[in-house]
Formats: sequence, structure tokens, C-alpha cells
Amino acid sequence: MAKYQVLSEFYKSPEWINLRKQLMLERSSTSRGLLCEICHEPILRDIECIGHHIQELTPQNVNDVQVSLNPRNILLVHHRCHNALHERFGQTMLQRVYIVYGPPLSGKTSFVRNNKGRKDLVLDLDELYQAITLLPAYDKPTELKMNVFQIRDELLDQMKIRMGKWQNAWIIGGYSFQLERQRLAIAMGAELFFVEATKEECLRRLFEDKDKLPFQTEWHKYIHVWFLAFRPDSLSVEMQDDRLGPEQGTMDARKPRL
Ligand SMILES: [Zn+2]
Ligand SMILES: [Zn+2]
Repeated sequence: MAKYQVLSEFYKSPEWINLRKQLMLERSSTSRGLLCEICHEPILRDIECIGHHIQELTPQNVNDVQVSLNPRNILLVHHRCHNALHERFGQTMLQRVYIVYGPPLSGKTSFVRNNKGRKDLVLDLDELYQAITLLPAYDKPTELKMNVFQIRDELLDQMKIRMGKWQNAWIIGGYSFQLERQRLAIAMGAELFFVEATKEECLRRLFEDKDKLPFQTEWHKYIHVWFLAFRPDSLSVEMQDDRLGPEQGTMDARKPRL
């Protein structure tokens, strides 16, 4: 039951009722029907299905359709799973998810190391490679990509539904594509942090580190490709108002505007 009148009204609005119906259709498959996005078991009856907002609805954001009516912010779940989810929120502090992005060798992992708590969950592809190969850092055989990616997706799922007793979760990655990282942020109910470094700084770090010597060519390519693809988040502001120039960040890690 919604705490605030304005929220109860939202749940009765035709916009919400229609969106929920539409999502139930879109997310159903002919073979398995509609699956709960928490336990992955079928939701058999319409009445069992709850549309849960990942970024919690509040009287302040309920009129922001990017939150309240954004399909990426909505999970279709069983009543019982929904209750369990909210019980977890009630028992513990709200679990936050952060996406830390930036070019290779910009210092993302160090940033997380300096900011994380002991009970935080960290998802870092490079570290996952090491964990399952015992190879030196930076050596990432493409043959193992699929296995690493499956573990990543499993962890992303756990973070998305706030499964487990962790405090906060950190997702470390390049995420040079603006749309990709913004979609991920919405899907995860996460905040974005940008760890900034110039291409020259990244290349200097690459050439100075002897451990990276055998992988220099590969990492040189990663750096190059990242800067080719990267568009800062301020571009979306520019598109709305072409008087604004690109923003130059000065801090090591800053929260981009969404
Ligand atoms: Zn369920
Ligand atoms: Zn909910």
C-alpha cells in the first residue's frame, strides 16, 4: 500500500495501468508466458503480477515519467517476491549501486578501492578474468570471454534485484557509449561516476608499467578504441541547448549529468 496519496493515485492512473499491461504482453513469451524478474518462475495470473520500480517512487519523482513510466525502471514480479524485496529494504539500509566508468587505466579500480566499504560487492571484468584464470593482470584470453561474461551477467542480476546482504555494489567498466551506460544505470537503479583521464595520461601509465609490457599492443588498442567511442554525458545537454559547449570536468571522479 502506497504511503502517500499521490502515489496511490499514480497506481490508479490509466498511464500506469496501460503501461503495466503493455509490459506484461511484451515480456511474455509464447512458450513460457510471463516470468517473474526476481525468481524467474512463471507469473500465472494477472493479479499476481506487480510492477516494481527499481528507483523507488516518491512524491517528488512520481511525475517524472523517466522514473515512473520508464519500462527500464520497472520489474514485473510476483507479489511474494515483491514483498520479500521490500522486506529486505526494510531490514537493511537501502543498497546502492554505482557504475564507475572511464578510459582504460584511468584509475577506476583505485577509485572504488578508496571508496568502498568492507561489505560492498564489486564487479570488475579484469578481476574476474584473474579470479578464474590465475593469469597475471591485463592478460585476458578472448577464449574465456563467454565464461567471464556469464559470471558478470549473474552478478549484474544479483545487483539489480538487490539480492544478498551486501551494502553497496560497484560496477567497473569502460562504458564509453553514452546510451549503453545510461541504459545500464536505469536498469540497475544505479548512479554513474566518471573517472576522468586524458588519452596521454592513460598511454603514459601503460608505457610506464613494466607488468603491462607483454600486453602493450592490446591495451594500446583498448585505450584508442575507448576514446574513439566516448561521448561525455554533457552532450545530451548540448543537443537540447546548442549554446552550451562541451563541459570540461576537473575532478578525478565526477557525477555526470543524466
Ligand atoms: Zn517471483
Ligand atoms: Zn516495489
